[in-house]
Amino acid sequence: MNVHLLGERGKVGRVLGPALVGAGHRLVPLDEAVATVDFTRPDAVVENVRNSLKSGSPCVIGTTGFDQDEVDRLAYDAGLPCFFAPNFAVGAVLMMRFAEEAAAHLPRAEIVELHHESKRDAPSGTAKATADRLGGEVPIHSVRLPGLVAHQEVLLGGDGQLLTIRHDTFSREAFVPGVLLALDRILGLPPGLTVGLEALLDA
Ligand code: NAP
Repeated sequence: MNVHLLGERGKVGRVLGPALVGAGHRLVPLDEAVATVDFTRPDAVVENVRNSLKSGSPCVIGTTGFDQDEVDRLAYDAGLPCFFAPNFAVGAVLMMRFAEEAAAHLPRAEIVELHHESKRDAPSGTAKATADRLGGEVPIHSVRLPGLVAHQEVLLGGDGQLLTIRHDTFSREAFVPGVLLALDRILGLPPGLTVGLEALLDA
């Protein structure tokens, strides 16, 4: 597929670009693209999506912390699909699923999310998505330190016991299979913004 990759020189883009080419995709300018992939910065996403949709290209969005309602509206009005996963790592999706299951049996949960120091948004998109799935008031603690990539613990407490569910992303290769899956499915999604890798894994 002809793919327009935004953020090609970024930490994710530097890994993703060669991986997309290795999987048989071509990296092309927007006017030749069948789909756009965005790993840029939160304040750039709405404008990037607007340009992409104007050119007839659906968007796979990895950037976190943008206005999802606005992107949903733009995509719906354009009659084109967009897809956003707060986390493209399959292990992180399973962490959220297991945490949701555990929260049905343990009364209190808190989330600790740990990322590299240059991450712009806090709390992380994954932590917010996890808290939404657990329901109620779930405190989120954000850690930003050099040496980290992307990590999250969900701590679930009950009388006399603690369950910890932890996911670690050690390198950005972890996001590649999820992005390839999203590109594979994007043209079959309905107009508007579809959120979460789980929507594609279970389909
Ligand atoms: P990064 O290293 O800062 O890279 C971002 C890149 O985007 C930079 O090369 C930057 O170029 C470029 N950029 C900024 N504004 C742009 C625009 N308007 N148009 C085109 N390119 C633009 O960040 P990163 O670590 O790769 O992460 C990027 C985003 O993905 C962040 O929001 C991060 O939270 C998110 N992320 C999501 C997942 C997921 O699974 N969903 C996983 C990892 C990261 P300049 O340096 O020239 O400004």
